[in-house]
Amino acid sequence: MIDLIGKSALVTGGSRGIGRACCLMLARAGAKVCVNYRVESPSAELLVEEIEGAGGEAFALAADVSRREDAEMLVEETVHRFGGLDILVNNAGIWKGSAVEEMTDAEWDETLAINLRGAFLCIRAAVPVMKEARAGRIVNVSSTAGQRGEAFHSHYAASKGGLISLTKSLAVELAPHGITVNCVAPGWTVTDMTSESLLGPERDGILAAIPMGRAARPEEIAGPVVFLASDLASFVNGEILNVNGGAVLVG
Ligand code: NAP
Repeated sequence: MIDLIGKSALVTGGSRGIGRACCLMLARAGAKVCVNYRVESPSAELLVEEIEGAGGEAFALAADVSRREDAEMLVEETVHRFGGLDILVNNAGIWKGSAVEEMTDAEWDETLAINLRGAFLCIRAAVPVMKEARAGRIVNVSSTAGQRGEAFHSHYAASKGGLISLTKSLAVELAPHGITVNCVAPGWTVTDMTSESLLGPERDGILAAIPMGRAARPEEIAGPVVFLASDLASFVNGEILNVNGGAVLVG
């Protein structure tokens, strides 16, 4: 039922984990996909090959979303290659741990710059294109940490809470222009980001706090992202879609 044929999509941090699953699912629905990554080009190139092998259209582009010129280049290049930008998925993120009294300025700034400013920079670059088309879908990938906080990851939680407020603000600001802005807030998901925790001694404690008793597969986060990018979600705006196996129940 989801038909994105002819749509142009940009997925930040699209080369691995949740972003990778989003790229694959968007491409399977017919969208042309720009797979952004920061440093690890083999994963991105392999993904492009996989999408093309299945008959889809994609290209990989290295860019650090925390840098204004990189974010602008990402949007410009996607528009140049695909003739527009219909779907922006702000997924790139980092998750590093630190007790607050030991957290350096640089650690705080890096997390906020990638997780929050990166989304702002990409959105700011994309909005003029979407306004001109009088249509657009923006999906921000937050986290349960943005809803309930996360001890020893306070910079991460603050960045993800910021994404939720950014989503709500822009949903209202951009709706008159035909642009919806929504958010997916994933819980524990099996990716490179979490492999150490999910394979280590904390595993049982983590899973015990998830009513479904397991972490998500990346495709289980991508599905809700693609739903929000599709016509099925045409009247959904400013929503924070919780995808956490029941771990954080918020209205
Ligand atoms: P991941 O497996 O670590 O992949 C991160 C992706 O982001 C990679 O493609 C990486 O590119 C890219 N990236 C990192 N910094 C970047 C930058 N400055 N500019 C552009 N791309 C950058 O992460 P994940 O687990 O899939 O997480 C994806 C998103 O979901 C993140 O925002 C994360 O906070 C959120 N999330 C994850 C979980 C979870 O349990 N996994 C839970 C809640 C929310 P390279 O390959 O080049 O490094």
